[in-house]
Amino acid sequence: MIINVESPILEIHDLTVSYDQTPVLWNVDLSLPMGKLIGILGPNGAGKSTLIKAIMGLVPSTAGHVKLFDRELKEVRSRISYVPQRESVDWNFPASVLDVVMMGTYGKLGLFRRPGKKEKNIAMECLEKVGMQSFVGRQISELSGGQQQRVFIARALAQEADLYLMDEPFAGVDMATETAIFQLLREMTTAGKTVVVVHHDIHSAMNYFDWIIMLNLHLVASGPKTDVVTEELLRKTYGGKLNLLTKVSDIIRQKDFNPLKS
Ligand code: ADP
Repeated sequence: MIINVESPILEIHDLTVSYDQTPVLWNVDLSLPMGKLIGILGPNGAGKSTLIKAIMGLVPSTAGHVKLFDRELKEVRSRISYVPQRESVDWNFPASVLDVVMMGTYGKLGLFRRPGKKEKNIAMECLEKVGMQSFVGRQISELSGGQQQRVFIARALAQEADLYLMDEPFAGVDMATETAIFQLLREMTTAGKTVVVVHHDIHSAMNYFDWIIMLNLHLVASGPKTDVVTEELLRKTYGGKLNLLTKVSDIIRQKDFNPLKS
């Protein structure tokens, strides 16, 4: 079940991505609405990270077309913030927490301007939002995994983008941090931003997201959570792994939970 939207913030037509001539994403057609918290779900190796990288032009597509804000990527890059997986980054790079978050502001600075007081203030505000303001001077190599993740999110916030693409932002963080980050993402969507998150836990996904994309090399489903989370589509996405993961009836029950109403 693939639900198309009018005036999509992101539109993908017939996208195929291959590594070494082996396709790992086939013929993906997708359109996403603005202002929603959107989860990409699927088993390991389903192509979730690849989809985000293809949207950002970080991996070449064999076929297909991506439009963001009805434009080409290069025209709207500064309106998009990409948060890669934490493990894909060299955290031993000598930089302080403040340096890393200030880097988020560079896209809006232009070529010859150096970051100044305004950019520092933005960075400090973002660090406060993720509860990391007391670590400004700390080297990023000296942070725990969860703290690094929060700094990464502060850096994305400092970009002041309209669309956020986050690859496993909850990986390696404790439950309290996960809840805090989720609340922050929810505030962002309430303020009109669109947040797309690769997520591996189906149970929490049912609580967190408004819109769900189910992927397993092909696009299985994309739509409002209450429409697309069905036993049939979950089985199509996860196959035999679903029984190992969880009880399907629990997931179906959870999808009707609305965190905003609790
Ligand atoms: P997911 O995020 O859903 O776990 P990925 O998008 O990371 O899946 O990977 C999809 C498939 O592509 C997997 O089979 C993975 O091994 C393969 N793959 C990912 N990155 C590369 C790469 N750089 N080179 C070759 N194969 C890759």
